[in-house]
Amino acid sequence: MAARRIDGTQAAAELRRALSVDVAAFAAEHGRPPGLATVLVGEDAASAVYVGAKQRACAEVGIRGFDHRLDADASRDEVLALLRELNADEAVDGILCQLPVPAHLDGVELTNVIAPQKDVDGLTIASAGRLALGLPGLRPCTPSGVMRLLEHVGTELEGAEAVVIGRSNLFGKPMAQLLVQADATVVIAHSKTVGLDEVCRRADVVVAAAGRPEMVRGSWIKPGATVIDVGINRRDPAPTDGSSALVGDVAHDEVAAHAAAITPVPGGVGPMTIAALLANTVEAARLQAGTPAAPRTGGAA
Ligand code: NAP
Repeated sequence: MAARRIDGTQAAAELRRALSVDVAAFAAEHGRPPGLATVLVGEDAASAVYVGAKQRACAEVGIRGFDHRLDADASRDEVLALLRELNADEAVDGILCQLPVPAHLDGVELTNVIAPQKDVDGLTIASAGRLALGLPGLRPCTPSGVMRLLEHVGTELEGAEAVVIGRSNLFGKPMAQLLVQADATVVIAHSKTVGLDEVCRRADVVVAAAGRPEMVRGSWIKPGATVIDVGINRRDPAPTDGSSALVGDVAHDEVAAHAAAITPVPGGVGPMTIAALLANTVEAARLQAGTPAAPRTGGAA
């Protein structure tokens, strides 16, 4: 069986097209587009690339981007003051403080200064609590992007057995909660899980986010399962034959021989994460303007 490729680049492009219509409608109604502020402290190269990609994606759908960059030695008070200013700014609907921040700052403290209604990364304690309680709120972007991909590929979640490999606050925990809300039966695996291969073999859906290159093998996969590869790892040494320098947590070709559908790396979860951030920004704008629309799957519901 050859697995269907879950094309995150295409699914994200479709979502962005739909969002540009929503953005234009919001702008027509409110006299301004939704606004997303990014805050980057320091010069971490990867973070600068991520922030740049987020700002470009905003521009593409018509969201107004506010790109705040602070020096690596910016003080705690300086960053807190900027975040509070953005909380009060009516042109800013969503705020994202790019992590990690330099060592003298506390990323958890900074994140939690963001007003919950502007928390488009879904990472504040308030947003995590709302998700845990099943209340409406803004959901973390990568898990909500995965939910959109599962919908895109038509994976039935009600009654399905799902395994999430990884229990981070950023991804694994919220991912498991979204799957439970979609009526899947969910196992959360982590580095102390015994017999992970056996655990995976039971699953109709495997979501791998351990940060371990090609850890999930073909023999772990139940025939016909859907496999979502969240891992982003750099090949070491870097390939010299022009193939991608990135590799996921799933041994792609082996697993594709058993699975019904699988995301590639790159071009799977990554593009959908940014599209989910844009969707959260539009949703945040509507909620603050008092004109919420039926959220697209994986969003604020
Ligand atoms: P993290 O905070 O390092 O968490 C990794 C999790 O994997 C931990 O819960 C850890 O278990 C578990 N783990 C590690 N080794 C394992 C093993 N051998 N077997 C089973 N579980 C194991 O990482 P993260 O932030 O969740 O990210 C995970 C991966 O996803 C990374 O590759 C990251 O780059 C990628 N990612 C991609 C996107 C995207 O947009 N595509 C977004 C976010 C993250 P313990 O808790 O026991 O240590």
